[in-house]
Amino acid sequence: MATSKPQLVLKSGREKSLLRRHPWVFSGAIAEVLGDPKPGATVDIISGTGEFLAQAAYSQQSQIRARVWTWEREEAVGSVFFRSRLERAIRSRIELSAESNAYRLCHAESDGLPGLVVDKYSNTIVIQLLSAGADFWRDVIVEELGQSLKPKVITERSDVEVRKLEGLPERTRVVRGDLHSSNVQIIENNLKFNVDVAAGHKTGFYLDQRENRLTVRGLTKNRDVLDCFSYTGGFAVNAFKGGAKTVTLIEDSIEALNQARDNIARNNFSSDIYEFINGDAFQVLRKFRDERRRFDLVILDPPKFAPTKAQAERAARGYKDINLLAFKLLRPGGLLVTFSCSGGIDALLFQKIVAAAALDAGVDARILRRLRQGPDHPVALNFPEGEYLKGLVVEVS
Ligand code: SAH
Repeated sequence: MATSKPQLVLKSGREKSLLRRHPWVFSGAIAEVLGDPKPGATVDIISGTGEFLAQAAYSQQSQIRARVWTWEREEAVGSVFFRSRLERAIRSRIELSAESNAYRLCHAESDGLPGLVVDKYSNTIVIQLLSAGADFWRDVIVEELGQSLKPKVITERSDVEVRKLEGLPERTRVVRGDLHSSNVQIIENNLKFNVDVAAGHKTGFYLDQRENRLTVRGLTKNRDVLDCFSYTGGFAVNAFKGGAKTVTLIEDSIEALNQARDNIARNNFSSDIYEFINGDAFQVLRKFRDERRRFDLVILDPPKFAPTKAQAERAARGYKDINLLAFKLLRPGGLLVTFSCSGGIDALLFQKIVAAAALDAGVDARILRRLRQGPDHPVALNFPEGEYLKGLVVEVS
């Protein structure tokens, strides 16, 4: 029967991942597109044998040709749909608001809203639209967020590479309210940080490390701490709070390092115990090794070396090098807190890389804790790709 809604008809047998409720439809699974859908428009996904499977957003240019909004045929994708999904996501974060006023409110696919990231920084909301579908519904999303959160400002940070794959331009602008200054002061675990929501990395801050910063705080007492890839000092500020003897920061962005200095002052912490090094962490760690400098706790939180599996091998070498150098700088009994945020490297592979680094460094080491992204960055069980940040706390003998 003819319907007005466009349809993606799958090749026979290609409905399996959808039946497991995985929300992506790859271009290779599609037999036929009926009805000329516009980018981002809602389409019905139909199996090769004619059964309705889901309603999804059409991405004309991407290899991920459609992302599922709902498994229900009757649910209308529109204001009410976005309101209820956003409200559910916001409700699940309520506990976080006791000690922090900055966290992720919506983690895209894992919150049932593919391509939509919403981060809260005090009274400022930052959205990131990563797919044609999320982009298509921008005005509705902004309206619903405005109604339910009543923020002072909503601003968009869709300045991300993945939009190219969707045929979308990069875009940053204030979408609601007036942003007098792009600097927003937030509270995280009762510490103050300045976040630049216009020019900072991601949407301004690495919110996914909130719990891990608190874990590190508990490990720093009387220790000489080295915070590599420090960004604006998330771990370094917590190290002071935890009673560190000294804290050394390495960061290659001078703007980020200056922000770290500012965040330390903002909490009225003494700058005497801090050393700020603007440079390449690989080079600085080599220099420290040659100078025989030693630390009691080393944090490694490098940028994404491998966004996808294809880059995993090269990335693995980078992780191994940096972890090997870190092991060499640790005093006996010292701790390495090491992370990977590469989606292309899973937790088991990361552990193997760290093990190989310890072996080559000639240290005997054991895992004390496993770390991950915080609960405001959930992983839907039907979408394991949502898991990307993993970390280990490793103690050397
Ligand atoms: N730990 C930080 C987040 C780190 S993100 C936090 O808790 O907020 C990774 C940081 O590494 C970025 O700030 C980036 O500017 C920096 N960076 C990237 N390559 C680097 C390199 N080779 N040497 C030093 N810093 C680097």
